[in-house]
Amino acid sequence: MLSLGSALFCSFLLDPVRKCPKMNSVFVFGTAVAAAAGGAIAYGTAWPRAQLFGSTICRTNSARKLAITFDDGPNPAITPRLLDLLDRYNARATFFLIGRFVRESPELVKETVARGHVVGNHTETHPNLFRLAPMQIRVELRLCHSAISNAIGAPPKWFRPPYGFRNPWVIPAARELGYGTVMWTLIPGDWRERPTEWLLPRLQLIADHAQRSLGNGSKPAASGTGDVLCLHDGSHRQMNGDRSRTLAALEYWLPRWRDLGLEFVTIEEAVRPPAF
Ligand SMILES: [Zn+2]
Repeated sequence: MLSLGSALFCSFLLDPVRKCPKMNSVFVFGTAVAAAAGGAIAYGTAWPRAQLFGSTICRTNSARKLAITFDDGPNPAITPRLLDLLDRYNARATFFLIGRFVRESPELVKETVARGHVVGNHTETHPNLFRLAPMQIRVELRLCHSAISNAIGAPPKWFRPPYGFRNPWVIPAARELGYGTVMWTLIPGDWRERPTEWLLPRLQLIADHAQRSLGNGSKPAASGTGDVLCLHDGSHRQMNGDRSRTLAALEYWLPRWRDLGLEFVTIEEAVRPPAF
């Protein structure tokens, strides 16, 4: 039988389209799991909410900026085609990489950066960090950190936890390495074995948001924030996972989003204050 904590845990994992997790929901989630575990560790009591999970980035600083992010690569079967597609629309993106895959394809990581994209840490083996102790979390982050650093000759600055799961030690461990932790506003579930026709409407929210914020696309955005979209160019289970449906969905949407006035930016550009 599922406990309350397990049920919440599963619904959190399986909900394919969810808005940026708010601190409150994460707090409730964390508290419920702890309670289900018998109340042995009352996370919510031991760590005040503000320090419990730490702050994350989940929006861009302008309605005009769309930060497209890709998790679980590098993927030799998909990433090179994705880089070509992004080039076609002058799009820059952020790739959260799995360390053990980086070690197998360092040249692809180098090329990703050379073509103007940003790469970040997505742990060494893609575990559920919620279940790991502080030292295990540190090892996961540091192994991936060194894999990326060795591949591109510079340390990465951004981190995304696998599945978005965090416990009280995850963000402090990321901060030790100088990382900003990046979540998202939209995760459409492109890892699922569903046809492109299933995925396409799940990305409509980006266009809806742009239409509301930017009007006809010709006037500058007065205010507001933009989306961070979480897609996948790899599969954390194995190299060369099939993400051709993600590519097909982007082929459809990139020109449409561009015509609505969106700019495709890296997470660095997403948080950079506008130049005056
Ligand atoms: Zn992942």
